[in-house]
Amino acid sequence: MKALVLHGVDDLRLEEVETPSPGPGEALIKVKAAGICGSDVPRVNAGAAHFYPIILGHEFSGIIEGLGEDCQEYGLKVGQHATAAPLIPCMRCADCQKGDYSLCRHYSFIGSRVNGAFAEYVTVPARNVVPLDPSIPFVDGALFEPSTVALHGVWGCGFRGGEDVAVLGFGTIGYFTAQWARLLGAKRLAVFDISEERLELARQIGADKAFNSSVNGTPEEALEFTKGSGYGYVFETAGQNNAMSLAFELAGNKATVCFVGTASKDLNFGWKLFEKLNRKEFWLSGSWMSYSPPFPGREWTMTNEYLANGRLVLDKSLLFKTFPLEDGAKAFRLFKQRGAVKGKIMLLND
Ligand SMILES: [Zn+2]
Ligand SMILES: [Zn+2]
Repeated sequence: MKALVLHGVDDLRLEEVETPSPGPGEALIKVKAAGICGSDVPRVNAGAAHFYPIILGHEFSGIIEGLGEDCQEYGLKVGQHATAAPLIPCMRCADCQKGDYSLCRHYSFIGSRVNGAFAEYVTVPARNVVPLDPSIPFVDGALFEPSTVALHGVWGCGFRGGEDVAVLGFGTIGYFTAQWARLLGAKRLAVFDISEERLELARQIGADKAFNSSVNGTPEEALEFTKGSGYGYVFETAGQNNAMSLAFELAGNKATVCFVGTASKDLNFGWKLFEKLNRKEFWLSGSWMSYSPPFPGREWTMTNEYLANGRLVLDKSLLFKTFPLEDGAKAFRLFKQRGAVKGKIMLLND
């Protein structure tokens, strides 16, 4: 089969390699679409790969082409359209036994610790396979992960409807967080971002209010929207200082503030901001990945069902560009130009 094999920093080669065959408990998937994740970029461009040579790619969809022995219990069929959850938890540690698979420390991961989907075929544990509703296009099937991450954050902090919700940052994770909060019963939904284009999209998916957080006076106006009482749930999806500060401002008394976004720079806050945590007695929580029992979890099955019934919307703008697998190296070069990539890049096989 053809595969994009990473041999070193910036050394991505299209090669002919042996097609993997599914072992016991494994499924062979013919890959149709595979997204380039933000985490793949440093693996290719900055030496962040665990080893070489490796085939990356963990956000993908395709067709089940074969099943190894001992797959009966998963109810899969050859020919089914499918996506797969990339985490391979150990299933034995205390965290896994509690169903907190995202917290497993002995995990493997498709496309970073074992070969992934930037290839014509990939083998994955059958347990990880999520059959796709046939109405879902392959490209959408490869975009499940951000939705599952968002839903995990919403559920993980014990979200209950009937409260005002603020979503800070309207990138891909914010986009899905806002939708899940709305679908699960947010009273009023306010979205914050610095891009007018993104804010327009927020209105389209049903945000009651979309605030440009780079404009002075935003926190006051946004608090006024809740008649001064603050938001019952605040989801921070940007992983940035401003958004973190805003989260502390917007939280109501006894609110839940959940950090879904990951930071790549220091976050700093002064004592006045810190005091808001005391004075409002809000709960600050974090969220990591997207798994729950039974593995891989409701995050995955709900994404499938809600995409199929049309209640979860996947806007065309999330997909920035597609390339044939053969041009994978060219796709990765785009990430070298600052600001050139505006959305997901997908590698396609015919
Ligand atoms: Zn990813
Ligand atoms: Zn484990």
